[in-house]
Amino acid sequence: MTSTDYDLTTLAARCGEEARPNASVPLAEPIYQSTVYAYPDLDALEDSMSGRQPSSFYYRNGTPNAATLERAMSLLEGTEASLVAGSGMAAISAALLGALKAGDHIITDARVYGVSYALLGEEFPRLGIETSFVDACNLDEVRAAIKANTKVIHVESLTNPLLTVPDVPALAELAHAHGAILSVDNTFASPAVFRPADHGADLVTHSLSKYLSGHSTAFGGVACGRADIIASARTRLLRLGGTISAFDAWMTMQGLKTLGLRMRAHSGNAQALADVLANHPRVKRVYHPGLGSHPQFERAAELFPNGFGGMLSADIDDAPGFVKALAGKIPLAPSLADVQSTLSWPWGTSHRALSEQERRRLGITPGLLRISVGIEDAGDILGDVEGALE
Ligand code: PLP
Repeated sequence: MTSTDYDLTTLAARCGEEARPNASVPLAEPIYQSTVYAYPDLDALEDSMSGRQPSSFYYRNGTPNAATLERAMSLLEGTEASLVAGSGMAAISAALLGALKAGDHIITDARVYGVSYALLGEEFPRLGIETSFVDACNLDEVRAAIKANTKVIHVESLTNPLLTVPDVPALAELAHAHGAILSVDNTFASPAVFRPADHGADLVTHSLSKYLSGHSTAFGGVACGRADIIASARTRLLRLGGTISAFDAWMTMQGLKTLGLRMRAHSGNAQALADVLANHPRVKRVYHPGLGSHPQFERAAELFPNGFGGMLSADIDDAPGFVKALAGKIPLAPSLADVQSTLSWPWGTSHRALSEQERRRLGITPGLLRISVGIEDAGDILGDVEGALE
């Protein structure tokens, strides 16, 4: 095409497509900000649409950036397949809806993330799916909840905010013995700490905005698992329309590259802080799976041999004063897993929809603070926290 071939309107619409560099390839994957793909002929289009030659064709069906992230996640979680989505909830919804239909029954830990709790407790019954809530750390309780139509058991590998650790291998065995699958939300651990599929889980989900991307800058979700489970989830997600943006998939890939290094630092710093807090007179109780006082310490040590991740919670005297004293150092921010340490207040954020009695029954008090321990210098974190407790 030359500048005299066409009217300027045509030139403007078609320019920029011809001279793409091909003698070298970019080291870092580009962001594919194209909502549709072009084909040289009908055979190539047919190969793409039929899946004979897997390739991107329309943004909602998946961008090259999403496909790259899916391959990375299958590798990191050790699963046959993965599906990325626009949020953690989109991934969980699509994956569980893919595994369930009207008339089926799902068992879930009562301690799961609040929006998962509402999805399973309020939305699923509207679709004819029955949900039972149990204490997933009590195997007898889970066993007693199983019915002939139970198709899924759904738990979190580390719960929020008290960091309980259900017995994933035993739950997988129990689920399989009854023809059900085990689904594990692995957001708080990340595959650098725990890989549920290695212990029998059939489905593993994450909110990508946490450890996987790691810098509070990318948003999305992922479901990893057996190929048939992920294929069914993909169909649901495609129809419900929960696509991740190419930019968020790309940003998550930048974070993933340092996951191993970050998790080593998060785990070491959280363990050091938990040890200090556990011996401080102004701290009533510390919840961290690496402390001998944690109710599932032995199980956590067996399942998480490389460290326990970066999360801990502590019941602190004068929590409001503690938060104020940390202003400008460790910010109050209702998310987690950033490279910088952050604080959150479960009583007033993640669990505020529960009654006061229910919160207290779960062990969530007004003085409970959750600390997402970052990768800063350990001495600086301990200095800031100990200074705020003085
Ligand atoms: N699962 C857990 C454990 C979470 O903490 C969250 C969000 O904080 C979600 C799922 C939902 O993820 P998203 O906010 O990406 O939808």
